[in-house]
Amino acid sequence: MADFKTHLMGAAVVSGLTATVLVMTGQFPHQAIIGYFVLGVIGGLLPDIDSPHSIPVRLAFMALAVIAGFLVVFTFGRRYSLVELMLLWIGCFALIRYGIFALLDYYTVHRGLIHSVPMGLICGLTTTFFAYQVFNASAIHAWMCGTFVTGGFFVHLLLDEFYSVNLFGKKLLKKSFGTAFSLGSLKQPIGTVALYLAVIGLFHLCPPSQPFTDLMTNRETYRGVVQRLLPGETWFAGFLRRVTPANLPTL
Ligand SMILES: [Zn+2]
Repeated sequence: MADFKTHLMGAAVVSGLTATVLVMTGQFPHQAIIGYFVLGVIGGLLPDIDSPHSIPVRLAFMALAVIAGFLVVFTFGRRYSLVELMLLWIGCFALIRYGIFALLDYYTVHRGLIHSVPMGLICGLTTTFFAYQVFNASAIHAWMCGTFVTGGFFVHLLLDEFYSVNLFGKKLLKKSFGTAFSLGSLKQPIGTVALYLAVIGLFHLCPPSQPFTDLMTNRETYRGVVQRLLPGETWFAGFLRRVTPANLPTL
């Protein structure tokens, strides 16, 4: 479990820092930034989805199954009876918790192709696609969502690489070093090619990335951040005034 915590912490620290910088730019609504942060943390847990028997993955699947059940109920809530909704809920839960879980268990090898750089890109691009097409997000917002997922995913791969830990808390042998941040596998050429084709295909399905890259590479966006990188003359200027009640009752 220790390394699940490492992944959780790593993704949370990097996403949290990035989210804080975004708050400082003043360009994004706060609710959206909380969403980005959560996506970054989820991205940081995704690569180990190919190890279905680890506790975090089982928990994540439980959560996913419950959330999906609710989404179905929210979608059909006004149309169907309570009994029908309950059946849909149970069906959806069972499909994910047992159906997809079993498929994943059957077809994947831990640290196979899912635990790779192109898969990280696929997860991010899929997020961008859904955010834009299904949830009607703006192109910039959609790309930011995808970027956080991919970012979290890469943080996970790097952590595995540097710490050489595995999901079950045992130290891995040295030979595993260099396998976590993989670009694909020569042993699975067809799967690897398919991953890269999926990256290209998904990129073309996503909204244009130009407005997003323009915003993120523009110096103006970060002007306020650079100016406020370190405190001015005093640390936490005016902080006490803000956290203490304005009109203290006079005794
Ligand atoms: Zn991993």
